[in-house]
Amino acid sequence: MQKGTLYIVATPIGNLEDITLRAIRILREVGLIAAEDTRRTRILLDAYGIDTPMTSLHDRNEREKSAHLITRLQEGTDIAYVSDAGTPGISDPGHLFVRQAIAGSIAVVPIPGPVAAVAALNVSGLPMDSFAFFAFLPSRRGKRRHLLESVREETKTMVFYESPNRLVSALEDIADILGDRQIAVSRELTKIYEETLRGTVGEVIESLRGKKVKGEITLVVSGTATARPDVSPEEIRARFQEARKDSTSSTRDIISALSEEMDMPRKEIYRHVLDFIRKESDDKSS
Ligand code: SAM
Repeated sequence: MQKGTLYIVATPIGNLEDITLRAIRILREVGLIAAEDTRRTRILLDAYGIDTPMTSLHDRNEREKSAHLITRLQEGTDIAYVSDAGTPGISDPGHLFVRQAIAGSIAVVPIPGPVAAVAALNVSGLPMDSFAFFAFLPSRRGKRRHLLESVREETKTMVFYESPNRLVSALEDIADILGDRQIAVSRELTKIYEETLRGTVGEVIESLRGKKVKGEITLVVSGTATARPDVSPEEIRARFQEARKDSTSSTRDIISALSEEMDMPRKEIYRHVLDFIRKESDDKSS
């Protein structure tokens, strides 16, 4: 008997139009949709006229329910898994289900789509060529401060999920531990009251003073070596390539000169041009 396929389907993080044509087709064609919250997913299915049967799989029943659904997959039923919003498994259930499916030799197929962390990065204005995602900041102050201490030297842009009630105290801890970095606070992305506040941590705290913060929040914080958030990775690469064309100096000397000219750490420039250097030496050796 042919086994079924498990589809991991991303759904909108607010705006119901943010769903792919393939996701709609798969949700319509599978035998069963496992959803984190069937009532919430019903709204999405109704908007697209989908009447596939649903069952719930959430944090509290993921282990037993996955085992049951693996049996259905083994018997040939195709199943789609959707979380409340965005991509399953990203600060949402789904990981255990995927692992159990893999252990049962079930094909697991991604149907990609929205992730709040990536949407927030896209509009942050901070470097997004590489980033570190930390999911939710710990709710307890001590643990939160401990985590922030541990990322003090992180050079990549950092992305955190945060509750609106804790936003200001989290920002105060960030200012205290990481310093007055550039940040972007995105609220209610893709929804009616979407907004992104950008600036230093101090400026954003000031703009939130006396206001009640509401809605879903994603916080983007610049990495430690991003001393020049106004300089894009593309600009760094372009300046490096230009300098390389006109000079006989070594890569190391060019990077040192650019570091001085652009007031940026050598390490940061090196990080941005590494791919270019690697490609160049691959081209030479082939
Ligand atoms: N699976 C989701 C994803 O792919 O992004 C994340 C689920 S997690 C339980 C929910 C958190 O994601 C929210 O508390 C908030 O921090 C962030 N988030 C979700 N939707 C958002 C939105 N529309 N705007 C800003 N942040 C959002």
